[in-house]
Amino acid sequence: MESKKSSLVTTCRLTIDLEKCLSCAACPPVCHTGALNLSSLLLEINKELCDNCSICIKVCPTGALLFSETTNFKPQG
Ligand code: SF4
Ligand code: SF4
Repeated sequence: MESKKSSLVTTCRLTIDLEKCLSCAACPPVCHTGALNLSSLLLEINKELCDNCSICIKVCPTGALLFSETTNFKPQG
């Protein structure tokens, strides 16, 4: 019997450019999985929770959030 476990694993591709991040706190509230935390004015991603939905990328005013393996990625909408 084949295991489908591997297909259920989501690999977080989100990265933060800390030089661009202003710690404005706009992104943690929009994350539906609670993957973003702003502690001590430093944004962190809980990669086990992130499902690459890209909502946070759309709200970031400085373009500090991006997906690592798609340099030409353009958020839809
Ligand atoms: S891509 Fe989606 S799930 Fe991942 S941190 Fe951003 S808002 Fe949260
Ligand atoms: S929205 Fe952008 S600038 Fe603001 S805390 Fe998030 S990553 Fe940093």
